[in-house]
Amino acid sequence: MKSSAHKQSGPHTEVVSLVESILSQAVTSRATDIHFEPTAEGLVIKYRLDGLLAIMETLPKAIADNCVARLKVLGGLLTYRNDIPQEGRIESEIGHYEDVMDLRLAIFPTIYGQRAVVRILYQNDQLVDLTQLGFPTSVLNILQDFARQCQGILLLTGPAGTGKSTTLAALMRTILQATPGRSIVTLEDPVEIRIPGVTQVQISPHGDMTFPVALRSLLRQDPQVLMIGEIRDAQTARIGVEAGLTGHLLASTLHSGTPAGALLRLVEMGIEPYQVTSSICAVINQRLVRQLCDQCKIEQPDQTFDAAGCDQCLHTGYTGRILLAEAIQLDRTLRQAILKHADLEELEMILAAQGRDTMAMHAERLVSQGNTSRQEIARVLGYQQHTTSNEQPN
Ligand SMILES: [Zn+2]
Repeated sequence: MKSSAHKQSGPHTEVVSLVESILSQAVTSRATDIHFEPTAEGLVIKYRLDGLLAIMETLPKAIADNCVARLKVLGGLLTYRNDIPQEGRIESEIGHYEDVMDLRLAIFPTIYGQRAVVRILYQNDQLVDLTQLGFPTSVLNILQDFARQCQGILLLTGPAGTGKSTTLAALMRTILQATPGRSIVTLEDPVEIRIPGVTQVQISPHGDMTFPVALRSLLRQDPQVLMIGEIRDAQTARIGVEAGLTGHLLASTLHSGTPAGALLRLVEMGIEPYQVTSSICAVINQRLVRQLCDQCKIEQPDQTFDAAGCDQCLHTGYTGRILLAEAIQLDRTLRQAILKHADLEELEMILAAQGRDTMAMHAERLVSQGNTSRQEIARVLGYQQHTTSNEQPN
């Protein structure tokens, strides 16, 4: 432990070490954000763990201002201004933790005092193998088949923060391993995971190097495999689909709640239905659910498990997250429906009749294996899923 240059005693030193311990405990428990929330009762400290906020403690009102002031000192902000929002970067010993990349501080004035949020960015070295990500075999087979093909498009759907970048990076690595020597280029905003052997290009959303601009000139560089971080606009969609139809293998993400929705989204973006049916190989839909803490999970009469809470999991009942996924491939019936401009309901009906391995089925397996709870599945998927369970969720 390094000591500060001049020693002080009294309440100030207490606040300094208190803030330091809140920061270091957050890093140790892999929290991604720390909220310092002023309320009538005091300063509520919350950690974002596995995507959800959990209350850690409430500090007495008397030291609330001092704690935020200490954060402002660490963040190099104006301590005498309490009436304006401020943003900065925290320079602290916590930053010496090997895998902490950045600590970003944001201060905002509220009626109870200043609210502070510290975002913790960890180095993302999670370049793992596709087989280690927890995909069901049905989805893994489709991804591995795609890796060996030489043209076509694979789309990933799901909300933000559901591990799509990790899947894309693992897929690129699989392509590299399955067919060495192919030229692989990625366009990302930002580059999240470095992949050895792959040319990665960072897109700047506010600069000249936008997705469509970069993609168009990149295609003149003779790439064989392309990864686009996200298809956000019609222009990128159009160039991407053309690439997928002309001898390129392309993987990307598209914001959509369901795989069928992703196909229709492309049509809405101005892609001709025949281009969709001839370019798209598969659509993978994924979510992340929290994994039950093995130390404290409680067995239920139906042999599934519920979350409890212990010191190990910081009383959340969960540690870490696992993948939930499903895939669709375009068969004859689905292609014909798209060509006939079928709506979402019709496409969903066709998919339901395919007898494929759905996300709800994958969820049910994870619940019955004791990996996650029914409550967690309901939180992530909602209650509308069709399961074999007789229980009426409330
Ligand atoms: Zn626990």
